[in-house]
Amino acid sequence: MIPLFAWIIGSQIVLTTQLITILFGVPIDVTLIEAGFNPYILGTVIALGLFFGVFVHEVAHSLIAKAKGIKIHSITLLILGGVSQMEEVVPDPKVELPMALAGPLTSLAIGIICSALVYVFPTLPDPAVAGVLVFTFGYLGILNVLLFAFNLLPAFPMDGGRVLRAWLARRMPLSRATKIAADVGRAFAVIFGIFGFLMLNPILIIIAFFIYIGANQEATFLRYYILLQDVTVADAMSNSVSTVEPTTPLPRLLELMYETKHLGFPVVERGNLVGIVTLSDLHKVSPIDREAMQVRDVMTPNPITLPPSAPLIDALRIMTAQGIGRIPVVEGDTLVGIVTRTDLLRVMELREKG
Ligand code: ZN
Repeated sequence: MIPLFAWIIGSQIVLTTQLITILFGVPIDVTLIEAGFNPYILGTVIALGLFFGVFVHEVAHSLIAKAKGIKIHSITLLILGGVSQMEEVVPDPKVELPMALAGPLTSLAIGIICSALVYVFPTLPDPAVAGVLVFTFGYLGILNVLLFAFNLLPAFPMDGGRVLRAWLARRMPLSRATKIAADVGRAFAVIFGIFGFLMLNPILIIIAFFIYIGANQEATFLRYYILLQDVTVADAMSNSVSTVEPTTPLPRLLELMYETKHLGFPVVERGNLVGIVTLSDLHKVSPIDREAMQVRDVMTPNPITLPPSAPLIDALRIMTAQGIGRIPVVEGDTLVGIVTRTDLLRVMELREKG
């Protein structure tokens, strides 16, 4: 994204210089700004500055989160903000509100500091150098204030969506607060989308999709969380597990799949779980090659397992994150059951309608 931004900023430099002059009321000497490749060099500097601003914004979220005892695994920087990968805990409005506000307020502070510097540089002796600095910091000042405003839109996955939910959650149950916040987010997405199409603006359309998906994810995750509350893996798993051995021939595995209608089997050797084999593993080899092969040749060794006492929401999280359909349940070293996507859906349906 940085070269793209650098190019956009560089190619519109004459127009933006005029805009910054008008907005800040400070005359800008353009001799250095417009010379040679300087527009693109300045574009690169401003693009890097913008990303640095997004980085500081995310660090602000993370520091508040850490201070409130939430672990942050990683931070992904995106064009219009970042995503902090935090432990998925059920949000507590007392924690969520300051955490969500910290980022935008930091962007606002950066924006104000950059804008203030615009009025300091004109005192420099070299007007051409002063012009470059006024342009750069003026631009970054505007971008950071926009970042502040954009992130406070009351729509998931923007910070404003979390602020709205935290504010609502003080007055009503979390599930209702999430539903309302998600609906507001979807409404914003539709409005953005319509404007994007009318103005033929691809960026607005992308943002609309981004917000729509974010609203749905937030609502779905919370619904699952509430449905699966205090259900353990043991409650949902199937106890009688059909297993295969590493030495089971692949043609026999296919027969077993037809007989049992199971599409995946734990692989057990002398009572210990050593792997898992699924229909998609079988499909990795051609039907002719299968004749001479055994389960051990295609299985996934050391699969992810869960103890029976684990919360069922963990199974959902692992299946979604890893894109897998079944998790063996292991107590000590012994295989005691298996939990599948179907088991999860069954529990959710029971909980919803039962
Ligand atoms: Zn943020």
